[in-house]
Amino acid sequence: MARERLYLFDTTLRDGAQTNGVDFTLADKLAIARMLDDLGIDYVEAGYPGANPIDTSFFAERRPMRGCLTAFGMTRRPGRSASNDPGLVALLDAQADAICFVAKSWDYHVRVALETTEDEMLASIRDSVRAAKAKGREVMLDCEHFFDGYKANPKYALACAKAAYDEGARWVVLCDTNGGTLPHEVEQIVGAVCKIIPGDHVGIHAHNDTEQAVANSFAAVRAGARQIQGTLNGLGERCGNANLVSIIPTLKLKPEYAQKFDIGVSDDKLNSLAHVSHTLDEMLNRAPDRHAPYVGESAFATKTGIHASAILKEPATYEHVSPERVGNRRKVLVSDQSGRSNVLAELERIGLRVDKDDPRVVRLLDEVKNREAIGYAYEAADASFELLARRMLGTVPKFFDVSYFDVKVEQRGQNGSTEVLTTAVVKVKIGDEMLINAAEGNGPVNALDVALRKDLGKYQKYISGLKLTDYRVRILNGGTEAVTRVLIESADEDGEHWTTVGVSPNIIDASFQALMDSIIYKLVKSGAPA
Ligand SMILES: [Zn+2]
Repeated sequence: MARERLYLFDTTLRDGAQTNGVDFTLADKLAIARMLDDLGIDYVEAGYPGANPIDTSFFAERRPMRGCLTAFGMTRRPGRSASNDPGLVALLDAQADAICFVAKSWDYHVRVALETTEDEMLASIRDSVRAAKAKGREVMLDCEHFFDGYKANPKYALACAKAAYDEGARWVVLCDTNGGTLPHEVEQIVGAVCKIIPGDHVGIHAHNDTEQAVANSFAAVRAGARQIQGTLNGLGERCGNANLVSIIPTLKLKPEYAQKFDIGVSDDKLNSLAHVSHTLDEMLNRAPDRHAPYVGESAFATKTGIHASAILKEPATYEHVSPERVGNRRKVLVSDQSGRSNVLAELERIGLRVDKDDPRVVRLLDEVKNREAIGYAYEAADASFELLARRMLGTVPKFFDVSYFDVKVEQRGQNGSTEVLTTAVVKVKIGDEMLINAAEGNGPVNALDVALRKDLGKYQKYISGLKLTDYRVRILNGGTEAVTRVLIESADEDGEHWTTVGVSPNIIDASFQALMDSIIYKLVKSGAPA
């Protein structure tokens, strides 16, 4: 049976840019647009030309892409002609393949927000679609508040969609702008729309305010819609947009959709999905969500011994899809509760070949248990586990020694104002060479980190792409006997992430251990010579 084409539209750079704390530079936008295009997204909506200088310069020149570069903007203002609306003129001049207009399809908004009439709004839609088509652009209309609008006044909501379609818009996109519509309502309303406008011209734009944006997108597809709008990692204001990183693998790997639809993302590119998701987090300087479906670090993690031994024999026993398909990996957690099969599974993943009856496996397991009893957490710190395993099996080169470090925090006051200064000094011995590094930092751990990584002699080139992406501190067992556990997450130029752990009654010492493990892990990974 021939499969039907289903189109993906990404709005990470427009709707996603509305997220609190997200501020894309022009370089970020160009890099993300390239990444989305490479992934196989059909439409990349890169911004709103005229709304801010970055979006305006994005569309000021031609940005060649495989897919369809889309500019977003409003239909002509009420009471003006298309040629007499500077906003619309700027949008029409933008160097884009497609234009996505937004128009109000809820009569309540037309009256209250726009203070105009329904007829004028419909005329604005028709005029704008016509003007963009005359410019040779592919045109679509985002029907804002479509579902709330449809519930209040189906006749007007449908008239908006129909006006765009009749004028030749390629797509009419039904938006759940407030994000409160439920899947059964979406399915029913999209079904009604598809009786009037063919489903291969209908799109869905869902927000996640009831945590059902992905489910709503699939409900719309079941009802006939053939374009899904969403963002990477579900970025977007409030609770976010529909998460394409969850939608894409579901479309590719679940037979109900895979047998029915083709999308622009190839099997090969699907393998890069975890990387794409983590790269975006990287650019936003956020730690990736460990529990994200498909791509999270814990998405295919198993903890208990019985599950682990079953998973090794037959992965399908506890996995709904194979993690490699989306570029993730199976992770059998090494923890206090785990048995020998977990350790063996981790050793296999790391690539350390040992006989399953090797007595060192039992020694390693005992060591993990002893260390976890005093506060280490190896299930979160995969890189520290790997180093421990490699050390016990005798394969970590001695790269360097830190023979001394000193961290000083001082408060200086003058005329009632005070500042806190932190400096660190580190002595590193590499072979016969002694290096002394000093650095200032915004706190003791930062100063120590900067000093440690300032000059590592012949190893410096291996760690130049290393950066710390997350730092977490937890105080264990409370009181004056408290022990501090530090988890440090690092990343490198290849986009790989790893976590290391340190434990000590002293937070600086715990941080130092985790920092050292991170650097040594990176040297091992890069194949640095001893
Ligand atoms: Zn939106």
